[in-house]
Order: sequence, then C-alpha cells, then structure tokens
Amino acid sequence: MQQEQPADQQVRLEKFRLLAQTLPQSISFGAVLALTVLAVLWRTQPPGLLLGWFAAHVGLNLWRLSVLRRFRRLQTNVAAAMRLTLAIQGGCAVAGLLWGLLALLPYAPEDLSTPLFVAFVLAGVTAGGATAMASEIVAALAFQFAIFAMLALHLLRSEGDAAYQAMSFSALLYTLFMALWTNRMHRNAVAAIHTQLDSTRREQQLKEQEARYRNLAHHDTLTGLPNRLSLQVRMSELLAHATANGLGVAVIYIDLDRFKDINDLRGHRCGDALLQNAARRLRDCVRATDLVVRMGGDEFIVATTEAQSTVQIVTMVERIAASLELPLLYDGEVLKTSGSMGIAVYPEHGADLEQLLKNADIALYQAKATGRGNHRFFANSMSVELRERIFLEQELARAVGTAQLYLEYQPLFDLTSGRLTGLEALLRWHHPERGLVSPKVFISIAEHCGLIEAIGEDVLRMVCRDLQDWQRAGVLLVPVAVNVSPIQLERGSVVESLLVNAREHQVSPSLLQIEITETALMKDTGRVAATLHRLRELGVKILIDDFGIGFSSLNHLKNLAIDGLKIDQSFVSDMIDDERDAAIVSAIIGIAKSLNISVLAEGVDSPGHVERLLGLGCDSGQGFFLHQPVPAQECARLLMRETHDQSPLRQRSA
Ligand code: C2E
Ligand code: MG
Ligand code: MG
Repeated sequence: MQQEQPADQQVRLEKFRLLAQTLPQSISFGAVLALTVLAVLWRTQPPGLLLGWFAAHVGLNLWRLSVLRRFRRLQTNVAAAMRLTLAIQGGCAVAGLLWGLLALLPYAPEDLSTPLFVAFVLAGVTAGGATAMASEIVAALAFQFAIFAMLALHLLRSEGDAAYQAMSFSALLYTLFMALWTNRMHRNAVAAIHTQLDSTRREQQLKEQEARYRNLAHHDTLTGLPNRLSLQVRMSELLAHATANGLGVAVIYIDLDRFKDINDLRGHRCGDALLQNAARRLRDCVRATDLVVRMGGDEFIVATTEAQSTVQIVTMVERIAASLELPLLYDGEVLKTSGSMGIAVYPEHGADLEQLLKNADIALYQAKATGRGNHRFFANSMSVELRERIFLEQELARAVGTAQLYLEYQPLFDLTSGRLTGLEALLRWHHPERGLVSPKVFISIAEHCGLIEAIGEDVLRMVCRDLQDWQRAGVLLVPVAVNVSPIQLERGSVVESLLVNAREHQVSPSLLQIEITETALMKDTGRVAATLHRLRELGVKILIDDFGIGFSSLNHLKNLAIDGLKIDQSFVSDMIDDERDAAIVSAIIGIAKSLNISVLAEGVDSPGHVERLLGLGCDSGQGFFLHQPVPAQECARLLMRETHDQSPLRQRSA
C-alpha cells in the first residue's frame, strides 16, 4: 500500500476540522427544523419545546468551541487530531439524535408511531449531518434558510398567544444569526485551510526544489554521473572505507582523446552523445561501490578499491581503455575515441583527495604527451617536468605574435650541381630568460595546448612576408618549405591562412611547399586528404618529412599524390658506418623513384654523406655541412649570391 504523504494527511485533517466545526451546528439545526415543524403541528406546547431546543443548541455550540480549543493544541500531532475528529463526528451525530428524541418525548403525540413525527426527526438529523459531511457552505446555507423560511411562515400564520409568538420570533432571529455566523465561520475556515495548505504546499515545493537543486548541484546533467562537487564527499567516504579495511584506492584520471576535434567538427550534439556513451561505459567497467565522476568537459575520474596491485590496476585500466575505444555509431557515422589516463594510488601517491587528484592529473598530462590512448602511473619526478612544461606553455602563449618567435631558413641543395634549390622555414623561439628553446620542445607543447594553429598561421605570414621582401629585392626566388602540424591539416585551417597571407603579400602559392610527417598521413586520411587536395590545387607541393621513421604505407603515398620524400636524418647521419641505414636510405630512394617523386636527404653533415648519397642516386640534400639555418636577412644575401651564380656549395666543391 502506498504510504500516505504528510501533505495528504494535512489536507485530510483540515477537512475534518471543517466538519468538526459545522457538524454539531448542522445537527442542531436539523433538530430545530424538526421541532419547529412539530411545533407547528402541535401548537399547544410550543414554548417549552422551543426553549428546550434553544438550550440544546447553545450547549452543542459551547461544546464545539471547547473542542476547537483542544484542536489548536493538538495541531502538531496529526494522528491524535484525526482520532479526535472522528470521535467528534460520531459524538455529534449521537448527541444530536439523543437531544432530539429526549426533547421531543414530553411533547410527543399520543401515537408515537405517527409517521410524520418520526420522518421529521430523522430527516432533520440526517440532513444536518449530510450537509455538514459535505462541508458545502451552499448546502449548509440552503438548509439554514429553509428553516428560517419555515419559521417565518409559521410566525406569519400564528395567532394570539404572545409568549408563543415571542419564542418563535426569537428562534427566527437565532436561525438568521446562525446562518450568517456559519457563513462567516465557513469563510474564515476555508481561508485558514487555504493558507495552511498553501504554506504546506509551498514548504513541500521548497523541499522538492531543494532536493532537485541538491541533485542537480551534485550530478552532471548530461551524463547523470556525480560531478566535481560531490567528489569531495564521496571520495572521503571511499578513502575512509579503504583505510578501515586496509585497502588501496586507485584514482584514475581519464581524458577523452580528440574530443575537442569531434565537438568542433561534428557539432555539440555529437559531442554530447560521445560523453554520455563514455559515461555509460565507464560505469559499466567498475563495481557499484566504485566511484565514477565527471569532472567537466571530457574529463572523468574513476576511483576504485577493486584493483589492489599494480598488475590489477593495469588490467583494469586496459579494460577501461578497451571499452572507451569501441566505436560508437552516431547519426550513421562511426565515431572513435580513446582515453588517456593518469593514475595515482592511495596511500602511496597522496593521503587526501587533493593530492591524489593533483598527482593523477600530472600523470595524465604525461600520458597525453606520449600520444593517445596511453596511461601513466604517477611518479615523483613527473611534477618537476610538469612544472617546466606548464611554465613553457604559459610563456609560449605570451610569445605568440611577438618578436620572440621568428624564422630561420635552411637552404636545400642539388648535390650534383651545388645549386640552392629551396629553403626550409624553421621556427625559433628566443625566450628572454631561457634563451633559445628547441622547436622539438615547444612545437609539441603548442600542439598539446592548442596554440599550434595560431603559431602555424604566424609562420605562414612570416614566410610570405619574407618572400615578398626577397621578391622586391629582385633575388632569385626558390620554393620555401613550411612545416605543418597534423592538427593544422586535420582542421584544414592551413589552406585558408596560406591563401590569405599569399594574397596579402602578393606571393604565388606555388612558391610554398608544405612538409608533413608520416604520422599526419596515418591519421584520419579523409580530412587530411581533403586538405592536401586543396593545397595541391593551389599549386603547393606536399613533402613527407622525416620519412622512414613512421609507418606510412606506399599505397598511402600513391593515393595522396605526394610530391616528395625527405629521408629522416637518423638514417642519413649513420649511413656511412651502418650498412643497414645505408640500405634503408637506398630503399627509400628506390621508392621515390618508382613513385616518380622527388627525394631529399636530411642531416647531411659531412662531405662523405654527399658522396654516399650521390652514389645511391639521391641528388638533393639539406644539412649542417651544406648550410646551417640562417635568419631571413642572411638568407636574402644567399639568394642574391645564388642569383649571381656564386653558390657557397659550388665554391666549396670547386
Ligand atoms: P625538421 O622539419 O625535420 O627540420 C629539420 C631539423 O633538422 C631542424 O631542426 C634543423 O635545424 C635540423 N638539421 C638540419 N641539418 C642538420 C644536420 O646536418 N644535422 C642535424 N643533426 N640536424 C640538422 P630544428 O630547427 O631544431 O627543428 C626541429 C623540428 O621542429 C623540425 O624538424 C620540425 O619538425 C619542427 N619545426 C620547426 N619549425 C617548425 C614550424 O614552423 N612548424 C612546425 N609545425 N614544426 C616545426
Ligand atoms: Mg621539416
Ligand atoms: Mg625533418
């Protein structure tokens, strides 16, 4: 059976209260009606009859008042008040009946079975009770005015007998007064009930609202998971439980890879679906007693006592990773994501939530730095590295668009003729305190913190500006290769910024080449391919940088219509001593030839390299032996010399 709510009980109680107020009165009126009719019928003894009933009426009302007073005291005890209400109802009915019968007995007609007499007594009492039970003021008033009308009629018709007329008249006034009083009392009672109900309802609403707010405040609306706010409470419970039972707690900080891309490219609804799905999968991966929390964005926390050893934690983390990596079908499209995870273990890596979270976050940062879908356990050495990284991240954000970031150009040469055939633009960061920071360090930071697009745009602007300067200086122009991050390719932003800058500086896009890594090709070939296609349409050549260390298939190279390969310097620099490296270099040259694309060797840093490369059939190179990267002004001088046919390489080889 459904439990009765306190609010419903309150409503019932209020109804009973109204009944308790009107019932005795109605019963007495019922009896007054009956007796009045009897008085009309048996005119001989009317004064005694009416007097008796007047007394009965007053008695009942006094009793009712005392009951109401007790009610007020009982208000807080609903159950007791209800019992009393029932007693009052019963008591009123019985009292009304008894009073009616007792008062009538002395005046009863000889024949007590007179049907009219019995009918009037019963009808009066029943009508009074029914009116009161209905708690309907309209019914109660109709009833009272009926009595009033009968008395008035009777008074008009009666003759002589001044005492009788006086009694009848006072009964008439009394009835009128009672009718008005009932009406007023009813209105007050109804208003009181409404006020009371309103306040009960408002209280109830407030309670519900508060409960809803608490739920909202502590739960994430999108995924239904507990949120960051409730983490504190739940985690302290979990830690207390673990301490009491001598258990460890693994705190796993999870970040969905590529979430921002999916959200930006496929829309927020798609992103939401991905998050909801991830939340469901995480929940399914752990036990009911373990904690899964959405920290915000694409970050989740799993805290568990299930895994107690490193091996068990790794097994669990792999289970989570595998479940996050399952493809999700959304709107007919297959979405794929993975989770990077940082793990901190209680009590080794922190005694409280704050420390554990901080360390799991540091481990996560490291996991992300090593690529997608990886996990890392926290280690003390990490915090130092992380602090450095965060410092560089902040400094780099400040450096974008300032003179701290500038370009150097490294010339590319034809190894046979010694002619300068091209340039590679290399970004430099000169930090006011740290001095030169290697692009190997800051480019990866820029890629991770989302600065790479702005930086990439800056590079294109600087290249186009320098090309324009050289053009104005009237030097021989050679193609400039620009390194482009996979992120720029995936987002496609590189096309727009290349077009805008080339137009602004009146440079032909065909003077630009882009260098991409093999890993960029391995990504989502669909979108990368589209970007590459648009670039090629503009006449921009596409070169694969650091070729040999990635895993691009030859099919990829063929299908994406690549223009050239740059053999990674690690093979080139060791090829003199290591025959296997020489074999790799030779194989790459073979691939380029069979695909009919150009090939250039990076890291040429000795005359021996030039010789060996020429022997293997590679006639393009770049390296410290050939030329160091140089600032734009010096590059202009180089180009000028080249224009006048005085290439340093040719002088050197001469
Ligand atoms: P990368 O594109 O392979 O550039 C060639 C790197 O090899 C340059 O290092 C260059 O200074 C170095 N190098 C040239 N000749 C030799 C040599 O004979 N021996 C050795 N050991 N090294 C040589 P750098 O300038 O430090 O650049 C490192 C990497 O940073 C670049 O490799 C490129 O991947 C990235 N990078 C540089 N500028 C940019 C940029 O503007 N955008 C992007 N996305 N990446 C850039
Ligand atoms: Mg390069
Ligand atoms: Mg390279």
